[in-house]
Amino acid sequence: MELFSDLKLNPKILKAVKDAGYEKPTPIQEKAIPAALDGKDVLGIAQTGTGKTASFTLPMINLLSRGRARARMPRSLVLCPTRELAAQVAENFDIYAKNLKLSKALLIGGVSFKEQDVLIDKGVDVLIATPGRLIDHFERGKLLLTGVQVMVVDEADRMLDMGFIPDIERIFKLTPFTRQTLFFSATMAPEIERITNTFLSAPIRVEIARQATASESIKQSVVMFTPKRKDREASEKRQLLRHLIDSEGKNCTNAIVFCNRKTDVDICSKSLNKHGYQAAPIHGDLDQTKRTETLESFREGDLRILVASDVAARGLDIPSVSHVFNFDVPIQAEDYVHRIGRTGRAGRDGTAIMICNKRDRKNFANIETLLKKEIPLSNLSDEPDNFNQIANENEDFKSKSGITDENQHQNQNQNQNQNQTKENKSKNVKKNQKSENSNRIIGLGEHTPGFLSQSFNDRLAS
Ligand code: AMP
Repeated sequence: MELFSDLKLNPKILKAVKDAGYEKPTPIQEKAIPAALDGKDVLGIAQTGTGKTASFTLPMINLLSRGRARARMPRSLVLCPTRELAAQVAENFDIYAKNLKLSKALLIGGVSFKEQDVLIDKGVDVLIATPGRLIDHFERGKLLLTGVQVMVVDEADRMLDMGFIPDIERIFKLTPFTRQTLFFSATMAPEIERITNTFLSAPIRVEIARQATASESIKQSVVMFTPKRKDREASEKRQLLRHLIDSEGKNCTNAIVFCNRKTDVDICSKSLNKHGYQAAPIHGDLDQTKRTETLESFREGDLRILVASDVAARGLDIPSVSHVFNFDVPIQAEDYVHRIGRTGRAGRDGTAIMICNKRDRKNFANIETLLKKEIPLSNLSDEPDNFNQIANENEDFKSKSGITDENQHQNQNQNQNQNQTKENKSKNVKKNQKSENSNRIIGLGEHTPGFLSQSFNDRLAS
Protein backbone atom coordinates (compact mmCIF):
# COMPACT_ATOMS: atom_id res chain seq x y z
CA MET A 1 0.00 0.00 0.00
CA GLU A 2 1.10 3.55 -0.73
CA LEU A 3 2.24 5.85 2.03
CA PHE A 4 0.75 9.27 2.69
CA SER A 5 4.04 10.78 1.60
CA ASP A 6 3.43 9.30 -1.89
CA LEU A 7 0.25 11.36 -2.25
CA LYS A 8 1.32 14.76 -3.42
CA LEU A 9 0.00 16.63 -0.41
CA ASN A 10 1.40 19.85 1.05
CA PRO A 11 4.13 18.96 3.64
CA LYS A 12 2.18 20.87 6.31
CA ILE A 13 -0.80 18.62 5.73
CA LEU A 14 1.40 15.52 5.75
CA LYS A 15 2.78 16.62 9.11
CA ALA A 16 -0.73 17.00 10.54
CA VAL A 17 -1.71 13.59 9.19
CA LYS A 18 1.36 12.09 10.81
CA ASP A 19 0.55 13.83 14.10
CA ALA A 20 -2.94 12.36 13.89
CA GLY A 21 -1.26 8.96 13.97
CA TYR A 22 -2.16 7.88 10.43
CA GLU A 23 0.50 5.92 8.61
CA LYS A 24 -1.08 4.66 5.45
CA PRO A 25 -3.99 5.99 3.48
CA THR A 26 -7.13 3.85 3.53
CA PRO A 27 -8.29 2.38 0.19
CA ILE A 28 -10.72 5.23 -0.45
CA GLN A 29 -8.06 7.80 0.40
CA GLU A 30 -5.55 6.05 -1.83
CA LYS A 31 -7.90 6.31 -4.79
CA ALA A 32 -9.83 9.52 -4.16
CA ILE A 33 -7.01 11.82 -3.02
CA PRO A 34 -4.83 11.67 -6.19
CA ALA A 35 -7.92 12.16 -8.39
CA ALA A 36 -9.08 15.12 -6.32
CA LEU A 37 -5.59 16.64 -6.30
CA ASP A 38 -5.64 16.40 -10.10
CA GLY A 39 -8.74 18.59 -10.05
CA LYS A 40 -11.09 15.77 -11.07
CA ASP A 41 -14.61 15.29 -9.78
CA VAL A 42 -14.89 12.27 -7.50
CA LEU A 43 -17.86 10.01 -6.90
CA GLY A 44 -17.09 8.03 -3.74
CA ILE A 45 -19.36 5.13 -2.90
CA ALA A 46 -18.44 4.39 0.67
CA GLN A 47 -19.81 4.66 4.13
CA THR A 48 -18.52 5.91 7.45
CA GLY A 49 -15.61 3.95 8.85
CA THR A 50 -13.71 3.83 5.57
CA GLY A 51 -11.80 7.06 6.15
CA LYS A 52 -13.90 8.92 3.58
CA THR A 53 -13.88 12.23 5.49
CA ALA A 54 -10.13 12.61 5.13
CA SER A 55 -10.41 11.51 1.50
CA PHE A 56 -12.17 14.78 0.68
CA THR A 57 -10.87 17.02 3.49
CA LEU A 58 -7.17 16.51 2.72
CA PRO A 59 -7.27 17.44 -1.00
CA MET A 60 -9.61 20.31 -0.19
CA ILE A 61 -7.16 21.75 2.34
CA ASN A 62 -4.37 21.24 -0.18
CA LEU A 63 -6.20 23.32 -2.74
CA LEU A 64 -7.12 25.99 -0.19
CA SER A 65 -3.54 26.30 1.07
CA ARG A 66 -2.99 28.75 -1.81
CA GLY A 67 -5.10 31.89 -2.04
CA ARG A 68 -7.26 33.87 0.35
CA ALA A 69 -10.92 34.09 1.23
CA ARG A 70 -13.05 37.13 0.44
CA ALA A 71 -15.84 38.51 2.58
CA ARG A 72 -19.09 36.55 2.31
CA MET A 73 -17.62 34.37 -0.45
CA PRO A 74 -16.48 31.01 0.90
CA ARG A 75 -13.91 29.22 -1.24
CA SER A 76 -15.20 25.75 -0.53
CA LEU A 77 -18.34 24.14 0.76
CA VAL A 78 -19.08 20.84 2.50
CA LEU A 79 -22.73 19.80 2.78
CA CYS A 80 -23.69 17.24 5.40
CA PRO A 81 -27.15 15.86 6.21
CA THR A 82 -27.01 16.29 10.00
CA ARG A 83 -25.56 18.71 12.48
CA GLU A 84 -23.46 16.00 14.11
CA LEU A 85 -21.91 14.98 10.82
CA ALA A 86 -21.16 18.58 9.96
CA ALA A 87 -19.53 19.06 13.37
CA GLN A 88 -17.53 15.89 12.83
CA VAL A 89 -16.25 17.12 9.46
CA ALA A 90 -15.32 20.44 11.10
CA GLU A 91 -13.36 18.55 13.75
CA ASN A 92 -11.49 16.63 11.04
CA PHE A 93 -10.80 19.85 9.19
CA ASP A 94 -9.23 21.37 12.33
CA ILE A 95 -6.97 18.35 12.80
CA TYR A 96 -5.68 18.24 9.23
CA ALA A 97 -5.44 22.01 8.67
CA LYS A 98 -3.77 22.81 11.99
CA ASN A 99 -0.49 23.85 10.36
CA LEU A 100 -2.14 26.16 7.85
CA LYS A 101 -3.89 29.45 8.42
CA LEU A 102 -7.30 28.53 7.10
CA SER A 103 -10.61 29.72 8.42
CA LYS A 104 -13.85 27.82 8.60
CA ALA A 105 -17.47 28.35 9.56
CA LEU A 106 -19.90 25.71 10.65
CA LEU A 107 -23.44 26.55 9.60
CA ILE A 108 -25.82 24.28 11.44
CA GLY A 109 -29.23 24.71 12.98
CA GLY A 110 -29.67 25.14 16.71
CA VAL A 111 -26.82 27.70 16.83
CA SER A 112 -27.39 31.48 16.60
CA PHE A 113 -27.19 33.12 13.16
CA LYS A 114 -25.27 36.05 14.61
CA GLU A 115 -22.06 34.19 15.36
CA GLN A 116 -22.19 32.49 11.99
CA ASP A 117 -22.79 35.84 10.22
CA VAL A 118 -19.69 37.36 11.81
CA LEU A 119 -17.52 34.54 10.49
CA ILE A 120 -19.00 34.64 6.99
CA ASP A 121 -18.57 38.43 6.86
CA LYS A 122 -14.89 38.05 7.59
CA GLY A 123 -14.51 35.54 4.78
CA VAL A 124 -13.98 31.82 5.20
CA ASP A 125 -11.96 29.24 3.34
CA VAL A 126 -14.34 26.45 4.11
CA LEU A 127 -18.00 26.44 4.94
CA ILE A 128 -19.35 23.26 6.48
CA ALA A 129 -23.12 23.28 6.51
CA THR A 130 -26.40 21.44 6.63
CA PRO A 131 -28.49 22.33 3.52
CA GLY A 132 -31.37 24.02 5.37
CA ARG A 133 -29.19 26.39 7.35
CA LEU A 134 -27.05 27.23 4.33
CA ILE A 135 -30.14 28.21 2.33
CA ASP A 136 -31.42 30.29 5.27
CA HIS A 137 -28.17 32.28 5.24
CA PHE A 138 -28.31 32.64 1.48
CA GLU A 139 -31.88 33.89 1.54
CA ARG A 140 -31.00 36.46 4.18
CA GLY A 141 -28.51 37.85 1.64
CA LYS A 142 -25.54 37.07 3.86
CA LEU A 143 -23.76 34.68 1.61
CA LEU A 144 -22.57 34.33 -1.98
CA LEU A 145 -21.66 30.94 -3.37
CA THR A 146 -20.07 32.17 -6.58
CA GLY A 147 -16.56 31.86 -5.14
CA VAL A 148 -16.87 28.13 -4.35
CA GLN A 149 -14.03 26.23 -5.98
CA VAL A 150 -14.66 22.85 -4.36
CA MET A 151 -18.00 21.52 -3.24
CA VAL A 152 -18.40 18.33 -1.22
CA VAL A 153 -21.66 16.46 -0.72
CA ASP A 154 -21.32 13.94 2.10
CA GLU A 155 -23.77 11.10 2.80
CA ALA A 156 -25.94 11.93 -0.19
CA ASP A 157 -28.17 8.91 0.35
CA ARG A 158 -29.11 10.25 3.76
CA MET A 159 -29.82 13.63 2.18
CA LEU A 160 -32.23 11.78 -0.07
CA ASP A 161 -33.93 10.08 2.90
CA MET A 162 -34.29 13.42 4.62
CA GLY A 163 -35.80 15.14 1.59
CA PHE A 164 -32.81 17.42 0.99
CA ILE A 165 -32.33 16.63 -2.69
CA PRO A 166 -34.18 19.75 -3.97
CA ASP A 167 -32.03 21.88 -1.62
CA ILE A 168 -28.87 20.19 -2.89
CA GLU A 169 -29.88 20.84 -6.50
CA ARG A 170 -30.56 24.46 -5.68
CA ILE A 171 -27.20 24.84 -3.92
CA PHE A 172 -25.37 23.20 -6.84
CA LYS A 173 -26.94 25.79 -9.15
CA LEU A 174 -25.76 28.65 -6.92
CA THR A 175 -22.13 27.59 -7.21
CA PRO A 176 -19.99 28.17 -10.33
CA PHE A 177 -20.18 25.64 -13.12
CA THR A 178 -16.38 25.38 -12.99
CA ARG A 179 -16.28 24.14 -9.41
CA GLN A 180 -14.75 20.77 -8.52
CA THR A 181 -17.24 18.36 -6.95
CA LEU A 182 -16.48 15.55 -4.51
CA PHE A 183 -19.63 13.52 -3.93
CA PHE A 184 -20.06 10.70 -1.39
CA SER A 185 -22.89 8.27 -0.88
CA ALA A 186 -23.15 4.80 0.63
CA THR A 187 -25.65 3.72 -2.02
CA MET A 188 -26.51 4.82 -5.53
CA ALA A 189 -30.29 5.13 -5.56
CA PRO A 190 -31.71 6.26 -8.97
CA GLU A 191 -32.30 9.79 -7.64
CA ILE A 192 -28.66 10.02 -6.51
CA GLU A 193 -27.52 8.70 -9.88
CA ARG A 194 -29.58 11.43 -11.55
CA ILE A 195 -27.96 14.16 -9.41
CA THR A 196 -24.45 12.89 -10.09
CA ASN A 197 -25.16 12.67 -13.83
CA THR A 198 -26.39 16.25 -13.79
CA PHE A 199 -23.85 17.96 -11.58
CA LEU A 200 -20.61 15.97 -11.75
CA SER A 201 -18.33 16.21 -14.71
CA ALA A 202 -16.61 12.97 -15.81
CA PRO A 203 -16.15 11.87 -12.19
CA ILE A 204 -13.61 9.29 -11.05
CA ARG A 205 -15.74 6.62 -9.42
CA VAL A 206 -14.30 5.06 -6.26
CA GLU A 207 -16.34 2.25 -4.77
CA ILE A 208 -15.15 0.74 -1.52
CA ALA A 209 -17.66 -1.78 -0.29
CA ARG A 210 -21.02 -2.80 -1.60
CA GLN A 211 -23.89 -1.53 0.48
CA ALA A 212 -25.45 -4.90 1.13
CA THR A 213 -22.25 -6.40 2.43
CA ALA A 214 -20.80 -3.29 3.97
CA SER A 215 -20.70 -4.52 7.53
CA GLU A 216 -17.73 -5.97 9.27
CA SER A 217 -17.72 -9.08 11.46
CA ILE A 218 -21.01 -8.92 13.28
CA LYS A 219 -22.92 -11.62 15.12
CA GLN A 220 -26.50 -11.02 14.08
CA SER A 221 -29.75 -12.39 15.41
CA VAL A 222 -33.45 -11.68 15.43
CA VAL A 223 -36.17 -12.28 18.01
CA MET A 224 -39.71 -12.76 16.71
CA PHE A 225 -42.03 -10.96 19.08
CA THR A 226 -45.74 -11.46 19.68
CA PRO A 227 -47.17 -9.65 22.69
CA LYS A 228 -49.07 -11.68 25.27
CA ARG A 229 -51.55 -8.86 25.60
CA LYS A 230 -52.22 -6.57 22.66
CA ASP A 231 -52.92 -3.62 24.97
CA ARG A 232 -49.50 -4.05 26.56
CA GLU A 233 -47.53 -4.54 23.37
CA ALA A 234 -45.29 -1.52 23.86
CA SER A 235 -44.35 -2.29 27.45
CA GLU A 236 -43.83 -5.99 26.71
CA LYS A 237 -41.54 -5.01 23.88
CA ARG A 238 -39.50 -2.81 26.20
CA GLN A 239 -39.38 -5.64 28.71
CA LEU A 240 -38.03 -7.89 25.97
CA LEU A 241 -35.38 -5.30 25.17
CA ARG A 242 -34.25 -5.28 28.81
CA HIS A 243 -34.18 -9.04 28.79
CA LEU A 244 -32.02 -9.06 25.67
CA ILE A 245 -29.61 -6.54 27.19
CA ASP A 246 -29.42 -8.61 30.39
CA SER A 247 -28.85 -11.83 28.43
CA GLU A 248 -25.76 -10.31 26.88
CA GLY A 249 -24.35 -9.67 30.36
CA LYS A 250 -20.88 -8.20 30.61
CA ASN A 251 -20.30 -8.62 26.88
CA CYS A 252 -22.57 -5.66 26.40
CA THR A 253 -20.20 -2.89 27.38
CA ASN A 254 -22.07 -0.23 25.45
CA ALA A 255 -24.94 -0.26 23.03
CA ILE A 256 -26.98 1.74 20.58
CA VAL A 257 -30.70 1.00 20.61
CA PHE A 258 -32.38 2.04 17.36
CA CYS A 259 -36.04 3.00 17.19
CA ASN A 260 -37.93 4.01 14.05
CA ARG A 261 -39.80 6.92 15.64
CA LYS A 262 -38.50 9.86 17.68
CA THR A 263 -41.28 9.40 20.25
CA ASP A 264 -40.19 5.81 20.80
CA VAL A 265 -36.58 6.95 21.19
CA ASP A 266 -37.70 9.13 24.10
CA ILE A 267 -40.01 6.56 25.65
CA CYS A 268 -37.50 3.76 25.34
CA SER A 269 -34.73 5.83 26.87
CA LYS A 270 -36.92 6.95 29.79
CA SER A 271 -38.08 3.42 30.41
CA LEU A 272 -34.54 2.03 30.40
CA ASN A 273 -33.51 4.67 32.94
CA LYS A 274 -36.54 3.90 35.09
CA HIS A 275 -35.40 0.29 35.22
CA GLY A 276 -31.87 1.22 36.24
CA TYR A 277 -30.14 1.11 32.86
CA GLN A 278 -28.04 4.11 32.03
CA ALA A 279 -29.47 5.47 28.79
CA ALA A 280 -29.95 8.74 26.94
CA PRO A 281 -31.85 9.62 23.77
CA ILE A 282 -30.54 11.23 20.61
CA HIS A 283 -32.77 12.44 17.79
CA GLY A 284 -33.32 15.48 15.60
CA ASP A 285 -35.78 17.27 17.91
CA LEU A 286 -33.34 17.57 20.80
CA ASP A 287 -31.39 20.79 21.06
CA GLN A 288 -27.85 20.83 19.77
CA THR A 289 -26.10 21.29 23.10
CA LYS A 290 -27.92 18.31 24.56
CA ARG A 291 -27.11 16.13 21.54
CA THR A 292 -23.43 17.05 21.68
CA GLU A 293 -23.29 16.38 25.42
CA THR A 294 -24.97 13.00 25.07
CA LEU A 295 -22.66 11.92 22.28
CA GLU A 296 -19.61 13.05 24.16
CA SER A 297 -20.50 11.06 27.25
CA PHE A 298 -21.27 8.00 25.10
CA ARG A 299 -17.92 8.33 23.34
CA GLU A 300 -16.12 8.77 26.65
CA GLY A 301 -17.77 5.64 28.04
CA ASP A 302 -19.72 7.50 30.74
CA LEU A 303 -23.02 6.61 29.12
CA ARG A 304 -23.73 2.93 28.42
CA ILE A 305 -26.77 3.04 26.17
CA LEU A 306 -27.57 5.49 23.42
CA VAL A 307 -31.14 5.30 22.17
CA ALA A 308 -31.19 6.73 18.68
CA SER A 309 -33.14 7.46 15.53
CA ASP A 310 -31.52 6.69 12.18
CA VAL A 311 -31.02 10.29 11.23
CA ALA A 312 -29.26 11.24 14.45
CA ALA A 313 -26.96 8.26 14.48
CA ARG A 314 -26.09 8.03 10.83
CA GLY A 315 -22.47 8.57 10.04
CA LEU A 316 -21.37 9.21 13.61
CA ASP A 317 -17.87 8.06 14.27
CA ILE A 318 -18.24 6.17 17.53
CA PRO A 319 -15.64 3.45 17.80
CA SER A 320 -16.04 0.26 19.85
CA VAL A 321 -19.76 -0.15 20.29
CA SER A 322 -20.24 -3.71 21.52
CA HIS A 323 -23.95 -4.05 20.72
CA VAL A 324 -26.64 -2.71 18.45
CA PHE A 325 -30.24 -3.46 19.39
CA ASN A 326 -32.85 -2.84 16.75
CA PHE A 327 -35.87 -2.14 18.90
CA ASP A 328 -37.78 -1.81 15.62
CA VAL A 329 -37.07 -3.39 12.27
CA PRO A 330 -35.96 -0.49 10.07
CA ILE A 331 -38.41 0.43 7.33
CA GLN A 332 -35.65 0.78 4.75
CA ALA A 333 -33.57 -2.38 4.43
CA GLU A 334 -30.41 -0.30 3.83
CA ASP A 335 -30.82 1.29 7.24
CA TYR A 336 -30.30 -2.13 8.81
CA VAL A 337 -26.82 -2.26 7.29
CA HIS A 338 -26.07 1.24 8.54
CA ARG A 339 -27.40 0.51 12.01
CA ILE A 340 -25.50 -2.71 12.57
CA GLY A 341 -22.41 -1.11 11.03
CA ARG A 342 -22.08 0.83 14.30
CA THR A 343 -20.77 -2.35 15.93
CA GLY A 344 -18.14 -4.90 14.97
CA ARG A 345 -15.98 -2.25 13.39
CA ALA A 346 -12.67 -3.25 11.89
CA GLY A 347 -13.23 -6.94 12.54
CA ARG A 348 -13.84 -6.46 16.26
CA ASP A 349 -16.50 -8.56 17.91
CA GLY A 350 -19.87 -6.97 17.50
CA THR A 351 -23.40 -8.12 18.20
CA ALA A 352 -26.58 -6.94 16.52
CA ILE A 353 -29.93 -8.13 17.87
CA MET A 354 -33.25 -7.17 16.32
CA ILE A 355 -36.79 -7.41 17.64
CA CYS A 356 -39.32 -8.20 14.93
CA ASN A 357 -43.06 -8.16 15.51
CA LYS A 358 -45.71 -9.44 13.13
CA ARG A 359 -46.20 -6.09 11.40
CA ASP A 360 -42.48 -5.81 10.67
CA ARG A 361 -42.10 -9.12 8.91
CA LYS A 362 -42.28 -7.78 5.40
CA ASN A 363 -39.51 -5.30 6.20
CA PHE A 364 -37.57 -8.08 7.86
CA ALA A 365 -37.86 -10.23 4.72
CA ASN A 366 -36.58 -7.27 2.67
CA ILE A 367 -33.52 -7.06 4.89
CA GLU A 368 -32.72 -10.74 4.43
CA THR A 369 -33.17 -10.29 0.67
CA LEU A 370 -30.80 -7.33 0.67
CA LEU A 371 -28.22 -9.22 2.75
CA LYS A 372 -28.72 -12.34 0.65
CA LYS A 373 -28.58 -14.33 3.85
CA GLU A 374 -30.75 -15.37 6.73
CA ILE A 375 -30.47 -13.61 10.05
CA PRO A 376 -30.30 -16.36 12.68
CA LEU A 377 -32.98 -16.57 15.33
CA SER A 378 -31.85 -15.47 18.76
CA ASN A 379 -31.03 -17.99 21.44
CA LEU A 380 -33.03 -16.63 24.35
CA SER A 381 -31.48 -18.07 27.47
CA ASP A 382 -33.00 -17.88 30.96
CA GLU A 383 -36.15 -16.48 29.49
CA PRO A 384 -38.95 -15.55 31.82
CA ASP A 385 -42.34 -17.19 31.15
CA ASN A 386 -43.23 -14.37 28.88
CA PHE A 387 -40.53 -15.23 26.44
CA ASN A 388 -41.29 -18.95 26.05
CA GLN A 389 -44.04 -17.82 23.80
CA ILE A 390 -41.60 -15.76 21.82
CA ALA A 391 -39.33 -18.77 21.35
CA ASN A 392 -42.27 -20.80 20.03
CA GLU A 393 -43.23 -17.91 17.86
CA ASN A 394 -39.69 -17.94 16.44
CA GLU A 395 -40.21 -21.49 15.23
CA ASP A 396 -43.62 -20.74 13.89
CA PHE A 397 -42.40 -17.87 11.84
CA LYS A 398 -39.46 -19.70 10.36
CA SER A 399 -41.65 -22.61 9.31
CA LYS A 400 -44.10 -20.18 7.70
CA SER A 401 -41.34 -18.32 5.93
CA GLY A 402 -40.19 -21.46 4.13
CA ILE A 403 -36.97 -22.08 6.05
CA THR A 404 -35.49 -25.53 5.32
CA ASP A 405 -36.20 -28.54 7.52
CA GLU A 406 -32.58 -28.66 8.52
CA ASN A 407 -32.71 -25.14 9.90
CA GLN A 408 -35.99 -25.82 11.61
CA HIS A 409 -34.40 -28.80 13.24
CA GLN A 410 -31.57 -26.64 14.48
CA ASN A 411 -34.05 -24.17 15.92
CA GLN A 412 -35.93 -26.94 17.67
CA ASN A 413 -32.68 -28.11 19.18
CA GLN A 414 -31.99 -24.58 20.32
CA ASN A 415 -35.34 -24.38 22.05
CA GLN A 416 -34.85 -27.74 23.67
CA ASN A 417 -31.54 -26.51 24.95
CA GLN A 418 -33.28 -23.56 26.52
CA ASN A 419 -35.37 -25.92 28.64
CA GLN A 420 -32.40 -27.77 30.06
CA THR A 421 -30.74 -27.11 33.38
CA LYS A 422 -28.74 -23.96 33.94
CA GLU A 423 -25.46 -25.85 33.75
CA ASN A 424 -26.39 -27.31 30.40
CA LYS A 425 -27.50 -23.90 29.28
CA SER A 426 -24.15 -22.33 29.85
CA LYS A 427 -22.49 -25.15 27.92
CA ASN A 428 -24.90 -24.62 25.11
CA VAL A 429 -24.30 -20.92 25.08
CA LYS A 430 -20.60 -21.59 24.53
CA LYS A 431 -21.37 -24.13 21.83
CA ASN A 432 -23.75 -21.73 20.14
CA GLN A 433 -21.25 -18.95 20.31
CA LYS A 434 -18.89 -21.16 18.34
CA SER A 435 -21.43 -21.97 15.68
CA GLU A 436 -22.50 -18.34 15.52
CA ASN A 437 -19.07 -17.46 14.26
CA SER A 438 -20.06 -19.03 10.99
CA ASN A 439 -22.85 -16.48 10.76
CA ARG A 440 -20.53 -13.53 10.74
CA ILE A 441 -20.76 -11.38 7.68
CA ILE A 442 -17.59 -9.99 6.36
CA GLY A 443 -17.74 -6.68 4.60
CA LEU A 444 -14.72 -4.53 4.01
CA GLY A 445 -12.53 -7.63 4.20
CA GLU A 446 -9.01 -6.79 3.26
CA HIS A 447 -10.07 -3.19 2.81
CA THR A 448 -10.74 -2.81 6.53
CA PRO A 449 -7.89 -0.82 8.04
CA GLY A 450 -6.93 -2.06 11.51
CA PHE A 451 -6.82 1.39 13.02
CA LEU A 452 -10.52 1.96 12.58
CA SER A 453 -11.26 0.14 15.81
CA GLN A 454 -9.36 2.79 17.75
CA SER A 455 -10.60 6.20 18.71
CA PHE A 456 -8.63 9.21 17.69
CA ASN A 457 -7.30 9.57 21.25
CA ASP A 458 -6.37 5.87 21.37
CA ARG A 459 -4.35 6.30 18.23
CA LEU A 460 -2.60 9.34 19.58
CA ALA A 461 -1.80 7.46 22.76
CA SER A 462 -0.61 4.28 21.01
P1 AMP B 1 -14.56 8.25 8.46
O1 AMP B 1 -14.89 7.09 7.56
O2 AMP B 1 -14.12 9.43 7.70
O3 AMP B 1 -15.69 8.54 9.42
O4 AMP B 1 -13.29 7.84 9.35
C1 AMP B 1 -13.30 6.82 10.30
C2 AMP B 1 -12.18 6.96 11.32
O5 AMP B 1 -10.91 6.62 10.75
C3 AMP B 1 -12.01 8.36 11.89
O6 AMP B 1 -11.87 8.23 13.29
C4 AMP B 1 -10.71 8.87 11.28
O7 AMP B 1 -10.04 9.73 12.16
C5 AMP B 1 -9.91 7.60 11.06
N1 AMP B 1 -9.00 7.60 9.90
C6 AMP B 1 -9.27 8.10 8.68
N2 AMP B 1 -8.22 7.88 7.86
C7 AMP B 1 -7.27 7.25 8.55
C8 AMP B 1 -5.96 6.74 8.24
N3 AMP B 1 -5.44 6.84 7.03
N4 AMP B 1 -5.25 6.15 9.22
C9 AMP B 1 -5.78 6.05 10.44
N5 AMP B 1 -7.02 6.48 10.82
C10 AMP B 1 -7.76 7.07 9.88
